[in-house]
Amino acid sequence: MSETVVIIGAGQAGCDMTAALRQQGFDGRIVMIGEEPVLPYRRPPLSKAYLSDEMTEEQLYIKPASTYEKQNVEVITGVRVERIDRAAKNVTLANGEVIDYTKLAFCTGGHARRLPLPGAEKPNVHYVRTIADIEKLKAQFLPGKRLLIIGGGYIGLEAAAVGIKKELRVTLVEAMPRLLARVTGPELSEYYYCVHSAKGVDIKLGAGVDALEGGELVERVVLADGTRLEADVIIVGIGLIPNTELAEAAALEVDNGILVDQQCRSSDPDIFAAGDCANHDHGFLLRRMRLESVPNASEGARVIAATICGKEAVHNGAPWFWSDQYDLKLQMVGINQGYEEVVIRGSMEENSFSAFYLCGGVIISADTVNRPKDFMVAKKLVAGRVKADAATLSDESVELKSLIA
Ligand SMILES: Cc1cc2nc3c(=O)[nH]c(=O)nc-3n(C[C@H](O)[C@H](O)[C@H](O)COP(=O)(O)OP(=O)(O)OC[C@H]3O[C@@H](n4cnc5c(N)ncnc54)[C@H](O)[C@@H]3O)c2cc1C
Repeated sequence: MSETVVIIGAGQAGCDMTAALRQQGFDGRIVMIGEEPVLPYRRPPLSKAYLSDEMTEEQLYIKPASTYEKQNVEVITGVRVERIDRAAKNVTLANGEVIDYTKLAFCTGGHARRLPLPGAEKPNVHYVRTIADIEKLKAQFLPGKRLLIIGGGYIGLEAAAVGIKKELRVTLVEAMPRLLARVTGPELSEYYYCVHSAKGVDIKLGAGVDALEGGELVERVVLADGTRLEADVIIVGIGLIPNTELAEAAALEVDNGILVDQQCRSSDPDIFAAGDCANHDHGFLLRRMRLESVPNASEGARVIAATICGKEAVHNGAPWFWSDQYDLKLQMVGINQGYEEVVIRGSMEENSFSAFYLCGGVIISADTVNRPKDFMVAKKLVAGRVKADAATLSDESVELKSLIA
């Protein structure tokens, strides 16, 4: 019997998996099913170039339709997978179609965490996850409008930067005492606070949202301390919930993502998961982690393809990520959890620096701002668990690459 790989979710991981399967020599049937009505697309520009009208929808697509045809990949868009029958080894689509699989991959991503308050469903409250979300947002994202952003993570900050560029009046509220609190150290949080404040974003930290007030639209956001902030447009960027409901219904092991091993295999050996929906036994971090980044989705996709093709592969790359705000390119590698010391190389004032996070003298993570060369070396330093001291790292006369053994 010939093999059929069914991929649920036509996003970054799903798309990369189709290509990787063919590259690895898989010659069976590949069917990728996505509930969005478009071809797989890149999400990072949604809060950057696409929101600021510097990119068309077609430019978001990871590949044109012709590439899937050439690779003999069946892409079904605009239809949701509703059910998985693990015993019969098939999936049922919302239109009733049943497709058999020999191997199944979850590349289902996640959905934006909703603001759990009455009024959050009103038409001027927005999320930033899909092309459809941005199309709806763009109609209200107009010069002079009062934009209120709830959440000081990457998505909130990137949207704030575009808001300033498009001449909206931007306020950002964050419940934690600093920006980017979950992903970076206080030095970077302070740096981004100063950057955004200087550009005109009114940032309120330690500011939980208690209520939304208004009529047909939300007109005011009420903070926990009673402050009322007037707003025309609201963006909520408070995190992502992995899409695991199908996996749970199919009795796969799920705990903040579909639990997978280093080959991205779930508790069913014929079912895999990659990308935002997967909680990996991570070969580099040596612990479980659910990551939300393009490089993570791509690596997981490649590992699944190799494993299906009977090759050795493990998900063990040092995680990395980027974020663009104004003319600042932030690139991060590693996870800084548990760091003991941070060392700054370069100049925050000149918007060109790198922050290295050390634990027991080992570089466990780095954030670089407008320093792509530092970033390339930092990836190797983190991946190689290289030891370095603060004096050497901060000394710009010492070439970073000299630290690579
Ligand atoms: C605004 C924004 C900015 C970002 N910026 C960056 C960045 O700068 N750098 C970076 O590295 N990462 C960034 N990311 C994160 C990155 O885009 C994601 O980590 C990546 O897209 C994850 O890929 P994925 O394949 O797991 O999920 P997705 O790309 O989300 O694809 C999952 C797809 O599965 C579909 N699906 C779900 N359930 C079903 C079902 N039952 N049936 C059919 N289809 C289904 C979904 O509708 C979706 O289309 C950003 C994300 C967003 C939203």
